[in-house]
Amino acid sequence: MQFTYLGTAAAEGWPAVFCRCTFCQEAKRLGGKNIRTRSQALINDDLLIDLPPDTYLHKLAHNLDLSRVKYLLLTHCHMDHFYPQELTVRGSCYSHEMESPHLQIFCAAESYALFERCARWEIDEASRSHLHFHILKPFEAVQAGPYTIVPLPANHMQSGNEPFIYHITDAQGTSVFYLHDSGYYSPAVWAYFRAQKKPADLISFDTTCGAEDTHGHGTHMGFPDVVRVRDEMRSIGLVGPHTHCVLNHFSHNGHLLHAELEALAAPEALEVSFDGKILQL
Ligand SMILES: [Zn+2]
Ligand SMILES: [Zn+2]
Ligand SMILES: [Zn+2]
Repeated sequence: MQFTYLGTAAAEGWPAVFCRCTFCQEAKRLGGKNIRTRSQALINDDLLIDLPPDTYLHKLAHNLDLSRVKYLLLTHCHMDHFYPQELTVRGSCYSHEMESPHLQIFCAAESYALFERCARWEIDEASRSHLHFHILKPFEAVQAGPYTIVPLPANHMQSGNEPFIYHITDAQGTSVFYLHDSGYYSPAVWAYFRAQKKPADLISFDTTCGAEDTHGHGTHMGFPDVVRVRDEMRSIGLVGPHTHCVLNHFSHNGHLLHAELEALAAPEALEVSFDGKILQL
């Protein structure tokens, strides 16, 4: 399995769209891995995780053929993870000679409702007929071609929304936990982690809060939270010697630039994501 981080920032991007704070100025000055766009990842070339406003930028920056994507997995309907209007230019006269004209979209009911509200009026019938929504239920596995996807409830948005984190396994048994966006997980999610029979190949951790310790009470995490969670996962066998444990989803409000994140992460054997980071799993 090839896993590519396309976007590694929180909602405002880093440097943030309208911000002039020290951390944004510094990211701009340093450039390179400090330039972070909105959250998105790609598995092989056919499973896309999230559809942020920076999808088009990702296509340009990484020379992607997004017409090959057959499966779209949505974590939740915050704008840095789902920009439904993008789907109005998929198919019909907007995209010719696509490798995969049909797109299977896996999401919670409210992400589908957001699509209906924001894009339904604008999308033409030919494009709409090639989108196939599958509404997910927590802990109920679905099959997307060679991928088995298990949505797990995230500890993230309030007020009746249903954000998901995901366990994705391919036909070879390569196992990825994509844990964005989320604070500390519920007992039911920990029970799911414990039920796994082998260590994961990749675990991608929410590190929005930078060096801050939320003590497990936030709807995002900071570095000290991630270290504790990783240790807890190691004690139940979900993290093994070959598991890539990657910090991801960063914000200027978390303050840590890429080199500072690397300096914190290295002694703990954690990796730091950047836009364009590729893992062969
Ligand atoms: Zn986010
Ligand atoms: Zn800023
Ligand atoms: Zn979010």
